[in-house]
Amino acid sequence: MLRELADQESEKKAKDIDLTVGYQGEPGAYGEVAAAAHGGIPKGFASFEKLLEALRDGEIDEAVLPMENAVVGAITEALEPFANFVVEGMELAAVGLTSVAVRLSLAARPGTPLGAVKRAWSHPAALRQCTHRLAQMGIERVVCYDTAGAAQIVAHDASTDAAVCSRRAAERYGLEVLVDDVSDKEQNGTRFVHLRMADHARAQVSLAFLRTSSMTATARLDVLTGATLLPLAGTTEYPVRMWVLGADAARLQALAPARDVQVVSLGQPAAHAAKVTPPKQGTEPVVKTLPHATARKAPTVVEIGPLRVGGGARAVIAGPCSVESPEQVMRIAREVASCGATALRGGIFKPRTNPYAFQGHGLEALDWLVAAGRATGLPVVTEVMAVDQVKPVAEKADMLQIGARNMQNFDLLRAVGRSGRPVLLKRGAGATVDEWLGAAEYVMAGGEARVILCERGIRTFETATRNTLDVGGMLAARPLTHLPIIADPSHAAGRADLVEGLARAAWSAGADGLIVEVHDDPARALSDGEQALIPARFAELARNLALHPDARLPLAQLRAWVDAIDHDLGVLVQRRLEVAKVIGDSKRQTGRAVLDPRREAAVRRTYQEALPGSKLLADKLVDLLLEAAKAQQSIDEP
Ligand code: PEP
Ligand code: MN
Repeated sequence: MLRELADQESEKKAKDIDLTVGYQGEPGAYGEVAAAAHGGIPKGFASFEKLLEALRDGEIDEAVLPMENAVVGAITEALEPFANFVVEGMELAAVGLTSVAVRLSLAARPGTPLGAVKRAWSHPAALRQCTHRLAQMGIERVVCYDTAGAAQIVAHDASTDAAVCSRRAAERYGLEVLVDDVSDKEQNGTRFVHLRMADHARAQVSLAFLRTSSMTATARLDVLTGATLLPLAGTTEYPVRMWVLGADAARLQALAPARDVQVVSLGQPAAHAAKVTPPKQGTEPVVKTLPHATARKAPTVVEIGPLRVGGGARAVIAGPCSVESPEQVMRIAREVASCGATALRGGIFKPRTNPYAFQGHGLEALDWLVAAGRATGLPVVTEVMAVDQVKPVAEKADMLQIGARNMQNFDLLRAVGRSGRPVLLKRGAGATVDEWLGAAEYVMAGGEARVILCERGIRTFETATRNTLDVGGMLAARPLTHLPIIADPSHAAGRADLVEGLARAAWSAGADGLIVEVHDDPARALSDGEQALIPARFAELARNLALHPDARLPLAQLRAWVDAIDHDLGVLVQRRLEVAKVIGDSKRQTGRAVLDPRREAAVRRTYQEALPGSKLLADKLVDLLLEAAKAQQSIDEP
C-alpha cells in the first residue's frame, strides 16, 4: 500500500517534470528561470497575450507571469493582459509563486568600452528598475520586448549599444558583462505566479482580481486583509483595479458592498468551487412573509436622547431589575449614568414565576423611574405585561419592553406596535430565531418601526446558568434583519459572576448593545438580586467596553478609568513594535527595502484620522513609534 502511494507520488512528480511551462521572453530571460523552477520544460513566447492564449488553447500546461518586483512593484505589463483574460472569462487558478533573484547586468559586444555605451535595450519593467543608475552613466533607455531579447538584438547589431539582462542571457548571446548589476537597489527580485487552467488545477495561492467603482471600498485593504496590493490603471467604470495577493476573495467581498466591487478569485477555494451556489438555508428567514422585520434595507438606528443603537451605534442600558423606591432607582440611575450608560432600565410590572413573589410597584413606580431618568438625562425603558398597561406606560416611558414570557402574546405585540414608543423585544426562552423575528413583525405591522431585538438566553438542559446566552442565534439573526440586536447577559447568566464574561462575549460578537441589571444592595433586592452587578463591577465592565464616564463619577473611579486606558495603550504600543519587527524581518527575507516612505505617510494618515483635531499629537505619536520601530529593526535614518 505504502509502496503504491510512493509510486503514485513519483509518477505525479514525473508528470510535473513533463509539464510545459510558458514564459514571456527569449531563452535566458528571468521568466525562463521561474518556468524551470519546479522542473518544467520552459517555452518562450513573444508577448504576455500570446503566452496566455497558449495556456487557454492547451498548447502549454502552465504559464509563469511576473507580478511584482522589489524595485518597481507591480509589473503592469504582465498584470494588465492577465486581468483582461480573467475579465473575459478565462478560468485560471494560481498554483504557486516563485521568487527569482534579479541581477540586471549591463552587457555589450565584446571589446566595447563602458564609456562608449550610449544606449541600453531592455524590457520596460527592467529598465524602470535601473532608471537612476543608467541616467548617472548618461545612458539612454531603449524599450524592447524582453531582457534576453535585448541581448539578442545587441549581439546582432554592429553598434556600441548595450543590453540590460541577466548574466545568463548575456553569456548565451556572446555578450560581455560591463557592469554586474545596474539595478537601483541591491537585493532586487521578482515574484512570478504560476497559472493553470482552473479545471486542471487545484488552486494553492490566494490571488484575487478586484474591480471597484469606489475608493472607499478598498481603503486600507492591505491593513484589513494583510494582503499585498498590486495596482493597475483604473477605468471609468472601475476607477480602482488591482491584483490582491494573499487574501481570500470572500473576505474582500465582505469588506465592501457587493454591487460596488467585483472580485475574481484565483486562489483557495479553487475557481470551480466558487461557482457552486452556496445553500440559501440559514441566510433566509424560514418565515418568508416578514417584509418589515426582514426586508433588505440599511440598518435601523433607534435613537432616543443619548441612546443610539444600530448601524454601528451601540447602547448600554442599565439599571435595577425592579424599581423598588424613588431613592433606590435614583441612586442606581446616578451610578450607571456616571459610567456612561445610555439608558435606564427598571421594572414596574414584574413577570414572576411565583405568584406570591414581588409583582412590582406598578404605575406609581413609573413616576420614580421617570424622575430618575430625567435627573440623569437617561431615557427609560420598562416592561409592559398586559394590553391595558400599554397606554398609561407609553405616556411616560421612553421605550416599552416586551418580556421573554410575552414574546408571543400577539395582542400585546400589536398594542405596543400602536403605542408610538420604540419597543425592546426580548427573545422568548423557548423561541427560535424565526419566531423572534415573527414577533418583531407583529410590532412593526402595528406601525412601530423602531424595534430593538434582545437575546436574553434560551432554556437548555444546562442548570449551571439560568439560561444559555445564544450568541450563535444572535449572529444567525444578524443577516436576516436590519433591526438592532442587543444582548442581556444578566438574565442569561442568572449569576453576577458570569455577567461580565457574557457581556464581553456578546459585545465582541458584534451585539448592537447590552442591557445589564445593576443594584447597589443585591442581597436585599426585591427581584433578581443574584444576577445584579454592584455599581463598582458595572463601572469595571463599562471601562472594558470603552464607555465614556462623566464628571459625576468620584475622582478615584475616574482615575481607575484612565489607568485602564493607559495600560491598554502600553500593551498596544508593545504589540505594534513586535509586529513592526516581524514586518522588517519579512521585508529582509523577501529582498524588499525595509524603509518605505509611502507606508510612513499611510501610517501618519491613520493616526491623523483616529485623532481628528489633534494633528500635532498624531504626528508626534507617529514620530515616536517610527523611531522606536527603527531602533528595534536597527535601521538608520536614510
Ligand atoms: C427583565 O428584564 O427584568 C425580565 C423579566 O427579562 P426577561 O423577560 O428577559 O426574563
Ligand atoms: Mn430581572
